[in-house]
This record gives sequence, structure tokens and C-alpha cells, in this order.
Amino acid sequence: MRMNGIVAGNSDITPAVSVLDLFTIGIGPSSSHTVGPMRAARLFVDQMERESVLPQTAQVEIHLFGSLALTGKGHGTDKAVLLGLEGETPETVEVESVPARLERIQTQKQLRLKGGHPVPFEAGAQLLFHRTENLPRHPNGLRFIARNAHKQVLLQKDYSSIGGGFVIEEGVATQTPIAMAELPFPCRNGEELLRHAAESGLSTSEMALRNESVWRTDNETRHRLACVWEAMRNCVQRGCRTAGTLPGGLKVQRRAPRLFRELTEQPEINLRDPLAILDWVSLWAMAVNEENAAGGRVVTAPTNGAAGILPAVLHYVVMIRGANEDQIARFLLTAGTIGILYKRNASISGAEVGCQGEVGVACSMAAGALTEILGGTVAQVENAAEIAMEHNLGLTCDPVGGLVQVPCIERNAMGAIKAINAARLACAGDGSHLVSLDKVIATMRQTGQDMSSKYKETARGGLAVNVAEC
Ligand code: SF4
Repeated sequence: MRMNGIVAGNSDITPAVSVLDLFTIGIGPSSSHTVGPMRAARLFVDQMERESVLPQTAQVEIHLFGSLALTGKGHGTDKAVLLGLEGETPETVEVESVPARLERIQTQKQLRLKGGHPVPFEAGAQLLFHRTENLPRHPNGLRFIARNAHKQVLLQKDYSSIGGGFVIEEGVATQTPIAMAELPFPCRNGEELLRHAAESGLSTSEMALRNESVWRTDNETRHRLACVWEAMRNCVQRGCRTAGTLPGGLKVQRRAPRLFRELTEQPEINLRDPLAILDWVSLWAMAVNEENAAGGRVVTAPTNGAAGILPAVLHYVVMIRGANEDQIARFLLTAGTIGILYKRNASISGAEVGCQGEVGVACSMAAGALTEILGGTVAQVENAAEIAMEHNLGLTCDPVGGLVQVPCIERNAMGAIKAINAARLACAGDGSHLVSLDKVIATMRQTGQDMSSKYKETARGGLAVNVAEC
């Protein structure tokens, strides 16, 4: 079974992934810890309905394992699963209504399953954090149990939130409506991408658009990519306007509105400073990640923690280089093609491989995409994506307080600038280089495997232990 961003079944058989699956419009602060768990909860309650156990259900238990238990509170996992059980999805939940919904659940001590069937709910007894235990498949594990009035189990399901909002449902056989072999240009790795390009003479985005035609018409793909861009633009605008303190207790101030004011109120200073463009790119990235940290509407690209990099570089392409609608679509198609290579051959989950899988991958995607828009060949696109990841290898995940704020917000600004630099370096060359994208993806995967678990979204190492929480 395959839904928007949801793969049900055995991950050993990787289905073809659409570029649009990497760019889902959801809510912050985390794709693996907020978006994925909300989808898992919604999947569970949908199944309760299908199996007709909803009316007899007197109680639901939610068990969070591993990284979800360790940093789930800071990442909003506890809230996301409740909203999912009430029938919400990340794409459609009304962000403004969330605080009141959660307040109602807490004060009434009641959940309304799928928006209707009421069951008593006490967080301490029914929402359980297993901090020292993992489910076998993945460090981001969830278990839901529905019981009747006699405490008998009516339905029990395990899920893994594997990064980027993707969810695997345990014990369900893989059914792949679209197999890799069905794509006109199946790219299992960078080498295949280069080979298809050499044989077809097409750009990365042209091949990607042909692949997407297996799912839907070109017009529909272009329309949905335009919606992704619009959601990114709206997010940047909200981030530039909204001042105040981010939630979670660290008392982190939003910086984007002030930076936006300074850049727009003193244009004469900017004109004298050729590096002012760096401030704009940082602004666009931080505006998104501050919205994300506040639980706002963001585009997962390819994760929420790294959601600022692609919009920032795309704003650079549009605002500074005057890109048109077609170039915006090409940018996203190229970025998605690169992201799929990481998802297929390594990971886009901070809990699996550290921040190299989030900020590192977003940086690599943005670098390759910008290179195509700058007129680079597919070899230069591949080179830019490789350069960007090569200099993110080993990047750990150590969010202070388990919140997606420090170092995440600034890290997106740094990642966006690094992506632009990587693209320029690649465009200055001829596409030939020593380390291939495939080698750097394999290195990233191995580095993630060797990385101590305390640097993989557990908030047990690095800045998370060296910076005192207020
Ligand atoms: S440090 Fe990186 S991987 Fe970890 S939460 Fe922040 S952005 Fe995500």
C-alpha cells in the first residue's frame, strides 16, 4: 500500500519514490518525530475503523520507543500522535487550532477517535515513553494498542517513522504499485543517473519529469510543484513577519523578522556590501526554520529539521537570479532526484545517520538543483551534490533540549550558503572529479552506522549536554 509519503510494508524492497513524496506540506517541528508519528496514528485509527473495532474501543495506548521517546517531547511527538488519533493529517491539520485542541484533550481527559468516538485519555497512563528500548526495525518506533472495556486487545500495530515523514507499517507485505523498473529513467544511484543522461541527452529535471509521468500528467506534476513553491514562499513570509520567543523553554528569540527589517530598511548599506546576499540567504533559511520550530506549516524538504535550505536557495534563484516558473519546477525536480538517491542508498533520518542525513542531504539536493539552473551539465549537478555532502560528512545531531532550534535553525542558514558555494565550485569545473556522488552517499551511510547513538537525535551528546537548558 502506498499513500502520500507513506510506504506500508517491508523496506527491503524499495519502491519507486516520487519526487513529490520528498516535498510534503506538513507541520513542524520534525518530519520523523512530528509528521511521521501523526501519519502513523492516523493509519492506526483508519485501520480501527476498517476492522470495525472503533465502537468497542474503550482505551488507546501509545508507546514511543528509542529516539521518539528521548526527544519526542521537544519534537512534538506526544502532540502529533494525539492529533493523528483524532483523525488529523499533517497536510490538512489547521495549525492555528492545534493549541486549543490539545488543551481540550488535556482538560477533558478525552480523545475523540477519528473526530468522533470518545475514549478517556490520561497522558501519564496511556502515552508511554520507552527511553531505553527500541523496536527492532528502526530507532523511531511507535506502538498503538486499542482495548475494549475489559482491557482485551482489539488491535495492536507497530510503525517506524523512517525520516522525511515516511512511515513503515510493520508486518504488512510490500505492495508496490510503481516499481523502479516501470520508470522510463530508473536511477538507483548516481552512476545510473549519469548513464541515462549520456544516453538520452536529457537534463536531470527532464528525466525526473518523465519519471513523474508514471504517477500523473506533466501538468499535474507542474501544478503540484508550484503548490510546493507557494507553501515555501508563504512559510518564508510568515517567518519574516512573526517576532517573539520560540516555544519549548530555551527562550530562543526569533531572529528572522529583525534581519528582514534591517535588510529592507537600509538598502543603501546592502548595495555597498557585495556579501549582503549571504544575509538574505540566511534570512530565508532561518525564517523557515523558526516557523518550523514554532510548529507552523512547512514543506518537508527532505525533512523538517532541514526544511530551510531548499527554500532559501530557491529564493536566491528566484529573487536574485530571476528564475521563472519553469526553472522553479526544474529546481525542485532536480533536488528531488538527488534526495531520492540518499533515501534509497543511505538515509534521510537524523535518528539513523545524524544531521548529515538531514542538513547534509538538503544541502546536497540544493547544490545539485542550483547547478542545473545555473546551466550546469548532469555531470556538474552530480559533482555539486557530491561536494555539498562531502563537507557535511560526520555532522551530528545534538539538538539542545531535544528541540529543533539550536543548532538546527542556524545550521540551515549555513547549509544553504554551503549549497550555493558547492554549485559554484561545480560550475567552475567540467564535472570530472575524484569522489563520485555514490561514493560519498556510501560514506555517509557508513559514517552514520559508526556514529555513536548519542549523536543521533537522542539529545544525549554534543551541544545537547554542553549547553545548559534555561
Ligand atoms: S541537529 Fe540536524 S538532524 Fe538534529 S534535529 Fe537539528 S536539524 Fe534535525
